Amino acid sequence: MSYNNSYDRGYSYGGDRNGGFRGGRGGGRGGFGGGFRGGRGGGSRFDERVELSTPEWDIDSLPKFEKNFYEEHPDVAARSEGEVGAFRKEHEMRCDGKDIPKPITSFDEAGFPDYVLKEVKQQGFPKPTAIQCQGWPMALSGRDMVGIAATGSGKTLSYCLPAIVHINAQPLLSPGDGPIVLVLAPTRELAVQIQTECSKFGASSRIRNTCVYGGAPKGQQVRDLARGVEICIATPGRLIDMLETNKTNLRRVTYLVLDEADRMLDMGFEPQIRKIVDQIRPDRQTLMWSATWPKEVQNLTRDYLNDPIQVTVGSLELAASHTITQLVEVVTEFEKRDRLVKHLETATTDPEAKVLIFSSTKRACDDITSYLRQDGWPALAIHGDKQQNERDWVLNEFRTGKSPIMVATDVAARGIDVKGISYVINLDMPGNIEDYVHRIGRTGRAGTTGTAVSFFTDANSKMGGDLCKIMREANQTIPPELQRFDRRSFGSHIRYGRGGGRGGRGGFRGGRGGFRGGRGNYQSGSNGAPLGNKRRF
Ligand code: AMP
Repeated sequence: MSYNNSYDRGYSYGGDRNGGFRGGRGGGRGGFGGGFRGGRGGGSRFDERVELSTPEWDIDSLPKFEKNFYEEHPDVAARSEGEVGAFRKEHEMRCDGKDIPKPITSFDEAGFPDYVLKEVKQQGFPKPTAIQCQGWPMALSGRDMVGIAATGSGKTLSYCLPAIVHINAQPLLSPGDGPIVLVLAPTRELAVQIQTECSKFGASSRIRNTCVYGGAPKGQQVRDLARGVEICIATPGRLIDMLETNKTNLRRVTYLVLDEADRMLDMGFEPQIRKIVDQIRPDRQTLMWSATWPKEVQNLTRDYLNDPIQVTVGSLELAASHTITQLVEVVTEFEKRDRLVKHLETATTDPEAKVLIFSSTKRACDDITSYLRQDGWPALAIHGDKQQNERDWVLNEFRTGKSPIMVATDVAARGIDVKGISYVINLDMPGNIEDYVHRIGRTGRAGTTGTAVSFFTDANSKMGGDLCKIMREANQTIPPELQRFDRRSFGSHIRYGRGGGRGGRGGFRGGRGGFRGGRGNYQSGSNGAPLGNKRRF
């Protein structure tokens, strides 16, 4: 069995681990491919599909592996419980579970090997984020863990760096071995982003990775898997495809990450996640990351994590980052485009600004993009109907600032981490408040500030209350036009969606005078306004 082989062969760890691997493979890819596939025998072996079954695990007969790499720094050990409590309180951190390691407070205290520490310091980050301070000791100690923190809080490095340490302590891959670290993520975009971090920090120890996601040709992904990768980042559907067609296997996985677990469950991936996790040895280390803590995530935790420890940063209540200024304008559909242009003019007074615009449908996304482009704005669209290579290209144009305006459907809402998005504009409100929080969370990330502008219409009335709640929590100014959609603001004397409808509302709107008249303003409003500092192609 390949595990035993690799142990018996006594592969060296550390600096030349990959050198050893490559040397050991000698004859190269032919031998590897042959050995791996050969085991499954048969002529049409490449496309043969095998229904995955849940293996019966006999842990005693599995090769042993290391998962605890944590050595507490003397300064951390010296800290009193009172000091630890004060630190957690200051960072709005709550811990649950038994024997939770104390948080670290600096990169040096985390106990990373020099080759990892050097890479981190090169990034120029001033200090670890809250989730990293508590997440690193937890993850490095080999325990199953749950990390709950907002998107943009530095979660990816919280599991990536311990993953690198984990890999470097494992026997080298043998021909036919699948990955050691598996990261499951909900979307292709997030998967690619995680890959970027893994590549950056894994390069010095020559850790190879691949990203396996649907909607793109399989060829390169299959070739990467066949060559052997220590880290596989995957969306669930494509990974199952690869497993069922024997393009990889999960026998070597000892470090499993479920990233954005809440989003994966929202997207209906639960059966696929269960199918995948059942293929992995049960004594693996499992790390679950999520921005929220709904029942579905709790169930998954109960079923797949063993005696987990949990850190929650911030409130479990859905909340927007306080570094984002939230502006909500109650408008009609007709007013949206002009208002959008007005905000683009403001946003682009900063030549470095990037603006992410959300619209509700693919069609609307394309329409608004061509409207903006005809008007001279450097906008590109990204949505699910675009080919993956086009999506990658658009995202890259946006990321690099070549095309600083991107119009997206929700496909780009979560997980996308593009530096320097200073404005998020909800041209159309999302369908629910969770997506609102995630969309606006594309700005104001990692300690920066940002602005979120949302156009709210009568059609969004159901979300009014939730929106006001999110804004109130973040100490934002709620415009009076929005407050009228918040039942709580008005007590019982105003009700919406009832009886008289327009009649009832009429009086209310009357109070605002200009609003309906606003359509008139719309005609004469920003149409024809000077385009000022607009950036053109
Ligand atoms: P994430 O929550 O993993 O999507 O991370 C959000 C952003 O924060 C990414 O661009 C990271 O590169 C960045 N980041 C990660 N750790 C730190 C840190 N300690 N200080 C500042 N930025 C960080």
